[in-house]
Amino acid sequence: MENTYLPVAIIGAGPVGLAAAAHLLARGITPLILEAGPKAGSSIEEWAHVKMFSPWQFNVDKEAAKLLLADGWTPPLKNEYPTGRELLDRFVRPLADLEQIKHHLQLNTRVLAITRVGQDVMKTQGRSAAPFLLRVRGPSGEQDLLASAVIDASGTYLTPNLMGAHGIPALGEIEHAAHIAYGIPEVLGRVRNRYANKRVLVVGGGHSAFNVLQDLVWLTQEAPQTKVLWAIRGNSLERILGGGANDQLEERGKLGLKIRQLLNDGVIELFKNVAIDQVTGNGQGLVVKAGERILPPVDELIVATGFRPDLSLLSELRIALDPATQSAVLLAPMIDPNEHSCGTVRPHGAIELAHPEEGLFIVGMKSYGRAPTFLLMTGYEQVRSVVAALAGDWDAAKRVELVLPQTGICNSDFDEADVRLEASASQTSCCGAGGTVREVAVQTSPGCCKG
Ligand SMILES: Cc1cc2nc3c(=O)[nH]c(=O)nc-3n(C[C@H](O)[C@H](O)[C@H](O)COP(=O)(O)OP(=O)(O)OC[C@H]3O[C@@H](n4cnc5c(N)ncnc54)[C@H](O)[C@@H]3O)c2cc1C
Repeated sequence: MENTYLPVAIIGAGPVGLAAAAHLLARGITPLILEAGPKAGSSIEEWAHVKMFSPWQFNVDKEAAKLLLADGWTPPLKNEYPTGRELLDRFVRPLADLEQIKHHLQLNTRVLAITRVGQDVMKTQGRSAAPFLLRVRGPSGEQDLLASAVIDASGTYLTPNLMGAHGIPALGEIEHAAHIAYGIPEVLGRVRNRYANKRVLVVGGGHSAFNVLQDLVWLTQEAPQTKVLWAIRGNSLERILGGGANDQLEERGKLGLKIRQLLNDGVIELFKNVAIDQVTGNGQGLVVKAGERILPPVDELIVATGFRPDLSLLSELRIALDPATQSAVLLAPMIDPNEHSCGTVRPHGAIELAHPEEGLFIVGMKSYGRAPTFLLMTGYEQVRSVVAALAGDWDAAKRVELVLPQTGICNSDFDEADVRLEASASQTSCCGAGGTVREVAVQTSPGCCKG
């Protein structure tokens, strides 16, 4: 690692950023953790009311646990499922509060841009020897900080996808922003009054949408005039309701089954094949349009259509992103939802996450770009490997130390695509079939990425 007297900057004190710090400390490398929010885990605060679908045994990084145990921490029960709040209270915040970590953590400090000293993105000569320069805005204004390497663990929760089917806002989406929420608003708590006894349309076909739908149905019991409508882009419920009982992440499977039950009970009105291009207001409420189709008027919209990475802070660095997923190029074949019908992603690390900009790694939720299947345990494996690489320990960086549970099922909608993948496995890098990088020992979902 060049400039070894400088710290390694970590952007974001979420669980993956903090885990990266623990791994750096274990290798005697100084971290500098820059967190935009007032506390560690600020993005999780936004979904603190949501129950996680992975149990504690998959939510805690091993190196971080070592630090915590040395400080007298009582580990949570392995098989219990925390909420976001419990993840914060029992893991993220105790970790951030440890003296060793706290000493290197700057809160209320937003990274605005990253570059290299004396180098814009065009310049090659002397590039890899130049320290990274981070422009940050903190409590004492803007300043520039130097680092030997950068681990970007800034997540994607703060940049949700919009409602428009074309990747840009639907016509009228900005104008009607006062009645549109993104992500998983706490409809049974903080923002209950906004949704109680209202007509609410939920847009999106992933687990965030399931969580919102489930909570809105609960709300109908206390506020019986509440109407729950649900718009999905595709046609197949099979595909989006996922693995059900076959999902080794049991709680996630159960959530899919619960939504199926609520649909059968008729408490959710479902609209399929809705590719939204416009939202307008008429005297009766907000009206969503999808081509010729017009959905019934509603009072509120909740858009749970996933997230996208904020790449603006990296524009002076040489990053190589897959054009579809906006993840690192070698990672893309493993996570691209256009090709995969299931959530199992083989473990990966520094090699798959590398960019032309030596010393830069994008990890955690942000590493998946727009792809939806990120799991914390994958992120912990990423940072273990990335930190080993930064320390020059390539044996450890290349080693795989994680076996993932099987998630989701490959369903009929995608059978054809899976067959194609299997047929071309010898030429592609799907789940390592092309032998691109690392040895793998991981269960994959049936029909998907059989390497
Ligand atoms: C509702 C929900 C439920 C989930 N449930 C599970 C689950 O059950 N199991 C699982 O494995 N995964 C789950 N995930 C996925 C994922 O593990 C989490 O999103 C996790 O929080 C990702 O961790 P992270 O550290 O990569 O990013 P985050 O937790 O998003 O942390 C990023 C941090 O970076 C900070 N930041 C952002 N921009 C900047 C900047 N420019 N400068 C400085 N700081 C910045 C943010 O304030 C934030 O604190 C869930 C995700 C969501 C949204």
